[in-house]
Amino acid sequence: MADRDGLIWLDGEMVPWREAKVHVLTHTLHYGMGVFEGVRAYRTPRGPAIFRLEDHTRRLFNSAKILGMEIPFDPELISQAQIEVVRQNKLDSAYIRPMCFYGSESMGLHAQNLKVHCMVAAWPWGSYLGQEGLERGIRVKVSSFSRHHINVTMCRAKSNGSYMNSMLAVKDATACGYDEALLLDTEGYVAEGSGENVFIVHDGALYTPDLTSALDGITRRTIFAFAESFGIPVREKRITRDEVYIADEAFFTGTAAEVTPIREVDGRAIGSGSRGPITERLQQQYFDVVQGRDAGYDHWLSYV
Ligand code: PMP
Repeated sequence: MADRDGLIWLDGEMVPWREAKVHVLTHTLHYGMGVFEGVRAYRTPRGPAIFRLEDHTRRLFNSAKILGMEIPFDPELISQAQIEVVRQNKLDSAYIRPMCFYGSESMGLHAQNLKVHCMVAAWPWGSYLGQEGLERGIRVKVSSFSRHHINVTMCRAKSNGSYMNSMLAVKDATACGYDEALLLDTEGYVAEGSGENVFIVHDGALYTPDLTSALDGITRRTIFAFAESFGIPVREKRITRDEVYIADEAFFTGTAAEVTPIREVDGRAIGSGSRGPITERLQQQYFDVVQGRDAGYDHWLSYV
């Protein structure tokens, strides 16, 4: 990733890609206290557009607030930086990664006198769980790792350190031959995927876990809006593993994962064992909206 052409926005300036470096004593590298976002720009008939940019920037600032980290830039500037990295790298679609992290001024857990740095990079990144996964659905394993308890790592913050848990779960699931992990909370209720929110369909209604141990996903909120427009009821509630096993359909949502059907969980086929009709309809709507084919949602697109 580090060895390529292009520009990365770092602390207010565009820096050549290979020179956007930090010191080995960077505080966040040691303790994982930092916040980040995952954002996407899509190719649209009117040029590249970033999907729900303001919402992502707002969540970045909320994440920092939860961690008690002061971002030394205005949200407008961080949004503009995201537009600039897409524009100046001449990308027509991209994954965009803003991150705020502590510098190397001191070590220790008191985190005193530390500068907060911000970076934004962007690069082309296709479907996270594969094109085939988007069409046929993926195979998922309930993880032996629990998702964070709210008094361990606050899940409303998209914080660097909380992804160690995600990585352990993914590694375990893929080592067992699955595509992705589904994590339960510490009480045993369904929480989310390693980097996605989860939905199930039962008798024509959508269900998704509440946000106790799951990220307040922007794609999740997008699905709520689509479901409302389609007249599909949505309920946030505690979901058990066996409810997932007997669901008619299940899918993951996320900026990287987009809307990915789940065709199997722990060796059990979900519904017909392929992409279900409600999932397909929501997925189609998602791609229509992010790719600028539905004028009704144009307010969610920031054109580059
Ligand atoms: N949960 C986790 C743990 C994630 O990392 C993500 C991806 N940011 C999501 C859910 C989905 O969030 P969003 O739809 O905002 O990308």
